[in-house]
Amino acid sequence: MYRGFVAADPHVDEFAIHGRRRAIFVDRDGTINAMFRNAATGTIDSPMGPEEFELLPGAVQALRAFNDLGFSVIVVSNQPVVAKGKTTIERVEATTRKLLEAASSYGARIDDVFYCLHHPQSILPELRLACVCRKPRAGLLRQAAAKHEIDLASSYMVGDSLTDVQAGHAAACRTVWLTPHDAVVPMDEHLNASPHHRAAALIDAARIIADVEQRRQISAARIDFGSRSGGSAR
Ligand SMILES: [Mg+2]
Ligand SMILES: [Zn+2]
Repeated sequence: MYRGFVAADPHVDEFAIHGRRRAIFVDRDGTINAMFRNAATGTIDSPMGPEEFELLPGAVQALRAFNDLGFSVIVVSNQPVVAKGKTTIERVEATTRKLLEAASSYGARIDDVFYCLHHPQSILPELRLACVCRKPRAGLLRQAAAKHEIDLASSYMVGDSLTDVQAGHAAACRTVWLTPHDAVVPMDEHLNASPHHRAAALIDAARIIADVEQRRQISAARIDFGSRSGGSAR
């Protein structure tokens, strides 16, 4: 059932202190779905409505892989498109419904969707502010963490923008930056981002995270075994 997305609170910047769940925070545009190319104007932008929303190859498979690894999946996205007067909140919601339907029809679970709707130059006064939720700030991740009792330090942030990596770092998450192998990334941006991992697409991020998790479990098992054998020797 669609429950509506959470429009982030521009002032709440809280930590989940007792979070126990682990999450993969996933950017939306350019990460789950393609950017939309307007043929008439030649510009590339976020989809403004469901008819402009198209999944990237492997995206929902990746979300299901995240589920299978035991993570909550939380979409965290800057959507200043309403503030800029490019679309309506109803069309943003319709786009979100299409995303959730696409995921669930493939058996992938998106646990929640958090949008920052604000922009410092918003044409709508109620959305015009320097908020704590617009990535690269960590408000979206922290609000999601508080709501879902997520342990940020053992969670991941995956996205295609420098600001996704920065938001992940600001929330103390592990970060995966999606940069196609043929992408020309300016060196200063690359150095500033310092993601924990780089992947070409969301499905590659899923493979990397699965690999990291497997190694983590193996080393945790070794520590467990070591302490047990140490105990029995005494
Ligand atoms: Mg993006
Ligand atoms: Zn915001």
